[in-house]
Amino acid sequence: AECSEVPTILLNNGERMPALALGTYLGFDKNGIVKSENKLLRDVVCQAIDIGYRHIDTASIYSTEREIGEAINMKIKQGVVKREDVFITTKLWNTRHKREQVAEALRESLKQLNLDYVDLYLMHWPIGINDDYTYSDVDFMETWQGMEDMQKLGLAKAIGVSNFNKEQLERVIREGSIRPAVIQIEVHPQIIQSDLISFAKSEGIVVMGYSPFGSLVSRYGMFFAGPRITDPKLVAIARKYGKTTPQVVLRWSVDRSVVPIPKSVNPNRLQENINIFDFSLTKEEINVINSYNSNTRYTLPSFWQNHPYYPFEKVDHPLANPFV
Ligand code: NDP
Repeated sequence: AECSEVPTILLNNGERMPALALGTYLGFDKNGIVKSENKLLRDVVCQAIDIGYRHIDTASIYSTEREIGEAINMKIKQGVVKREDVFITTKLWNTRHKREQVAEALRESLKQLNLDYVDLYLMHWPIGINDDYTYSDVDFMETWQGMEDMQKLGLAKAIGVSNFNKEQLERVIREGSIRPAVIQIEVHPQIIQSDLISFAKSEGIVVMGYSPFGSLVSRYGMFFAGPRITDPKLVAIARKYGKTTPQVVLRWSVDRSVVPIPKSVNPNRLQENINIFDFSLTKEEINVINSYNSNTRYTLPSFWQNHPYYPFEKVDHPLANPFV
């Protein structure tokens, strides 16, 4: 297998972040969040590091921190990378939003990861919930103070938010004492997020884009409306560069300065997804892909939509809460 070099982006904390991250959320089934079996994820992360991945995205709710930490520590021991060569992002879960809970939660994540610090700690949602999954009224600005404590303690080199809307991000910028380095949101051809991306950029905040393949791939056994891997316009662009349509869609993200977070546990696709740094799209090609926008979210936790800090548009028929 070849090893690719991933470029980096400068964050407003002065550190550099690799422009592509490996996603590690294994999905949801009737038993809840899917767990890694037989060290699958540890082996995937080892392979990812061998072929050049330097940024891993996880969250305490994914239950993948332990295996990611095993892989990183193995690769450090083997001399493949040093700690400072890898960039680890993890996230605070919604049940830990009180200021003093943030330190507890991050220390637990660091213990799972077996690391002294993370490169980036994100508030996973603006929504605080209690242990019994009733709504808590903790203001996300209180939580943000806890996040700031983590950067000051050096447990996180940078801090940021995820799933915040523009007004909520504006409030963090206005009322916080440390500006977020990153906002992580859903970005793919079905939801191109032009407004939030240009706002974040204008404020010096880097955007990470989750679920980057959008409708190209099946999700939970279902295909959603939108372009597939065989889409003729995407295929034409892919042919021009000798690439695949998933690579074109990842490159579209990179060319819009959005850090994509493709998840794969398949060796061939892991290699395919990192092999996107030897070409770039034209403005016209970016616009062709932009034209697929339908503002469709795949992550739409409508079961929380009556929470005062719910970030998204409300729907008429909210989903049942899978957490209770
Ligand atoms: P992705 O868009 O990364 O899609 C993942 C799916 O695509 C998997 O089924 C994978 O299968 C398949 N796949 C991967 N590469 C290819 C390829 N080259 N060709 C064809 N199929 C491919 O979706 P996710 O929703 O998993 O998002 C990615 C990551 O973003 C998550 O893992 C997580 O880290 C983060 N995330 C963050 C959220 C947040 O709230 N902040 C919410 C959702 C995601 P296979 O593994 O078999 O290759």
